[in-house]
Amino acid sequence: MQYLVILALIVGVYFFFIRERGTKPASPKKDKTQETSNEMVACSACGIYCEVDEALLSNAKYYCSKECVRRG
Ligand SMILES: [Zn+2]
Repeated sequence: MQYLVILALIVGVYFFFIRERGTKPASPKKDKTQETSNEMVACSACGIYCEVDEALLSNAKYYCSKECVRRG
């Protein structure tokens, strides 16, 4: 009986990972979100490139840090 439970667990985990692997390339939604999160913008003050999500938007310009916002 114990072996059946362990076997069921192993099979469950196995299929879980197979399903995970199978859905990753088949889902265009995930790729889209990755593309947008990887979009880079140049800091208007120092020119350093940073991700849009992390960049600070001030006066319609992107900055990498609060220091650069003050400078720019
Ligand atoms: Zn900067």
